[in-house]
Amino acid sequence: PVRPDLGSVLDAYRSILRTGAVEEPLIVHDGDMTLLGGFRTYEALDLLSAVRAPALLLEDGEFHVAGDDPLGAVRDGRTIEEGAFSLSGVEVPRIRVRLSDLLEGHGGRGRRVYRSTVELMVKDWPTPLVRLNFGSSEGREVWAKLEWYNPFSCSAKDRVAWAMIEDAARRGCLGGAFYEATSTNTGIALAALSRVLGRSCRIYLPRGTQAGVDAYFRALGAHVVRGSEPITVQMLDRVMEEARRDGAVVLNQFENDANFKVHLKHTAHELQEQLEAAGARPDYLVGALGTSGHLSAISFHLKSLYGDSIKVIGVQPAPGSRIPGIRRIETGMKWVSHAQLDGVADVSAEEALEGIWAVARSDGIIIGPSSGAIIAAVRKMDLRGTVAAVLPDNGLKYQEFLGSVGRDAP
Ligand code: PLP
Repeated sequence: PVRPDLGSVLDAYRSILRTGAVEEPLIVHDGDMTLLGGFRTYEALDLLSAVRAPALLLEDGEFHVAGDDPLGAVRDGRTIEEGAFSLSGVEVPRIRVRLSDLLEGHGGRGRRVYRSTVELMVKDWPTPLVRLNFGSSEGREVWAKLEWYNPFSCSAKDRVAWAMIEDAARRGCLGGAFYEATSTNTGIALAALSRVLGRSCRIYLPRGTQAGVDAYFRALGAHVVRGSEPITVQMLDRVMEEARRDGAVVLNQFENDANFKVHLKHTAHELQEQLEAAGARPDYLVGALGTSGHLSAISFHLKSLYGDSIKVIGVQPAPGSRIPGIRRIETGMKWVSHAQLDGVADVSAEEALEGIWAVARSDGIIIGPSSGAIIAAVRKMDLRGTVAAVLPDNGLKYQEFLGSVGRDAP
């Protein structure tokens, strides 16, 4: 195949963009649609995402203008071969076609232009749903909703921080500073949104929270308090007391129904519609439990819709295991009764890490520890059929966790 050199393609690209027109047609063999000339125009138009190209059809040494010859028609089904045909001695007619006419009707990539980072988050929903290779050889189909496609904390918690702030603003009690206990993600989302709103933020992290996350809070100008308590909810009294002392607002993700509701209104509907679009009726929903906000809301919605034909599994750390973002049900969760769980899976940190590796090796994405725990639960329980899994974040904040288990990869 002819490959025009990059320099000549870029010359054509610039000339087409500057003049807004194409003056060099493609030369296409009328019989088999082989491209005989205009290779640099072809490549330049491809890079400009044109869906059509001006072409001259050549038959028996004569040119015929071929109205709108779709690039696709050249690309699909026909090869682009080095022109055996010599153009010398044959006059190529002059043409001029507007570039805009070649782009017209082009479904295009979504423009994804937003006037603020908050608009980016809200208007970019739904977060994607992707079918994983993971598990497909064992007779299951896993559809994963990737919550790290949220811009602030790269986790499902952007939704919660935004919803709690919106609710507080509606009730006229936004205040000037937010104090919040968090395992990290709600903290990052809140710190981020507090900057957008010109507020300050003080984040309380439980003992054992990864050392590396301080850098994110420092970047966002949030104050970090590291507590000696091993889990978030045990810090609540202190957070409340210090907020009262300083006149700060505690949005309190553990008790604030805006947490549950934002997942019911958005995350749950997104997942339902995405599964429907994929033609995938879920046999299982598997999710991780922290405040219980997202799994309870999504489960409530899908069970309302599908009844008992969908089984819902909640994932918690095994006794003695630490998995960032999740904790055991007995530590207290406000909405978990709405989830009507059919089962609870205990997962160790080692199993969660193996879940991360499994998906990294089957699908090339590095999921977070709580997502790894979900995958481990799917494996452990040997779930069959169609599994919907909500993956709260990816693994890029968790170098410490990823390196924490002293085993080499299999
Ligand atoms: N996974 C991660 C990484 C989290 O950050 C959290 C919550 O902080 C969860 C899971 C649990 O989500 P939820 O609080 O909605 O139960």
